[in-house]
Amino acid sequence: MSPVRRSLMAAVSSSLVSLKHGLSHWCPHSSRLHNSTPALLASRTFHHRTFCIRASSDFANDNREYVIVGGGNAAGYAARTFVEHGLADGKLCIVCKEPYAPYERPALTKGYLFPLDKKPARLPGFHTCVGSGGERQTPEWYKEKGIEMIYEDPVTDVNTEKQTLQTQSGKLLKYGSLIIATGCTASRFPEKIGGNLPGVHYIRDVADADSLIESFKKAKKVVVVGGGYIGMEVAAAAVGWNLDTTVVFPEDHLLSRLFTPSLAQKYEELYQQNGVKFMKGAKIKNLDAGGDGRVAAVKLEDGSTIDADTVVIGIGAKPAVGPFEKVGLNTTVGGIQVDGLFRTKVPGIFAIGDVAAFPLKIYDRITRVEHVDHARKSAQHCVSALVTARTHIYDYLPYFYSRVFEYEGSQRKVWWQFFGDNVGETVEIGNFDPKIATFWIDSGRLKGVLVESGTAEEFQLLPKLARAQPLVDKAKLQSASSVEAALEIAHKSLQAEAKV
Ligand SMILES: Cc1cc2nc3c(=O)[nH]c(=O)nc-3n(C[C@H](O)[C@H](O)[C@H](O)COP(=O)(O)OP(=O)(O)OC[C@H]3O[C@@H](n4cnc5c(N)ncnc54)[C@H](O)[C@@H]3O)c2cc1C
Repeated sequence: MSPVRRSLMAAVSSSLVSLKHGLSHWCPHSSRLHNSTPALLASRTFHHRTFCIRASSDFANDNREYVIVGGGNAAGYAARTFVEHGLADGKLCIVCKEPYAPYERPALTKGYLFPLDKKPARLPGFHTCVGSGGERQTPEWYKEKGIEMIYEDPVTDVNTEKQTLQTQSGKLLKYGSLIIATGCTASRFPEKIGGNLPGVHYIRDVADADSLIESFKKAKKVVVVGGGYIGMEVAAAAVGWNLDTTVVFPEDHLLSRLFTPSLAQKYEELYQQNGVKFMKGAKIKNLDAGGDGRVAAVKLEDGSTIDADTVVIGIGAKPAVGPFEKVGLNTTVGGIQVDGLFRTKVPGIFAIGDVAAFPLKIYDRITRVEHVDHARKSAQHCVSALVTARTHIYDYLPYFYSRVFEYEGSQRKVWWQFFGDNVGETVEIGNFDPKIATFWIDSGRLKGVLVESGTAEEFQLLPKLARAQPLVDKAKLQSASSVEAALEIAHKSLQAEAKV
């Protein structure tokens, strides 16, 4: 990804600022597509699966043809696609590290963290694919569909010659086609600065969220480290529990990889009205333990100290490549390198979701996207291509969203959506009551758009705009009296271009 030029961003409402950076937090790195490695280019030629189903007593399920490693978001949507193609029954196996069937992970920092008296989300309520309006795939669903589920037994090794997987408990699994869907792991603070102290939390799975809830039950002072999505969502949840909450981050504003300074300022004020305190431009020196061994304070590099009995670290995530390094890693964005059909350089092995470094066709670069929409779509695309020999390549349009303060009794619920690329100048429209929109314009074309509290119709327009990238009249857009009027101007630009 080209360097973020935050210094170019002036905190002016409804202003135009020059900004040339790529995609944000959920899309941590990217590199130009034409820098593709030979391995990737080689893998673009279509290959055939080499597995023949053999009668073998070595492997518990002789019919197993497809194995998905990682029972997360992407795995759930991949399973649904196998079922739709009539290819799950007896042939599909999912190997999970967690004790749960795939679920919609974003819920963990949203409904899952609602105060206990405000109907928090719990499994089985949010198994995939409810997040996209699909069927709720409970453990029984997998049984009914004949899908072999292996729980709490992570894969520890892969033999690509013999096409076998080894699990932690010692199982040896034969695969025909292997789909790696291991997601990410939360980045941690080193142990020597207190990263493993009791009371210090990271959130990636249900067990992590349960542990945080146990801390919230007793907590008085919470420090959230990180001003990205996880930090913003956890802080919004913590004040819902009436906890003294401080967010500490090194940047000069919230969600700096996506928000303009002006937009961030509005959200910061909203958070402050809800009781959240911010320490911006602050770097952590270490986390201190109290007499009971639990975390008691957060020490900053400037010498100041914030008391805390609960600390939540939200400083990003790393692709969980685990035993699959040998399948081929991308050197610039990390993760497992795949082509536009999610094929790795090893025939018969695919990678999807957060862990996959794939060609983002629309912007001509290789990237990873840590976002549930991509997890779902990459899973569907990969499986459809695998089982139908379809060859049309993945053409993803980046989409990010967040939802906070949605618990019962909240004065102001927040739901924003962003589509496209946050490059170029920005135009901000709306007075945040609650609507607001930011448009990113590069070389006269609309590249990205964010709307908060839009109607269903308005949200549906955003991907059309970001995909088509119409030429827009910046001055006209700037003079729009409301978000509705600005979207209408953008829509007309789209229609005008469609006629040409
Ligand atoms: C707390 C939280 C909130 C989020 N909120 C949002 C949001 O608001 N909007 C959004 O778009 N995205 C959000 N995301 C990101 C989104 O959840 C991910 O992009 C999505 O879950 C990726 O799906 P995946 O299947 O690739 O990985 P995951 O869903 O992470 O699943 C990977 C699974 O693989 C398992 N695994 C790892 N290694 C192994 C192994 N060796 N063997 C077996 N299993 C293994 C893991 O335990 C995990 O269960 C959030 C993520 C988190 C953690």
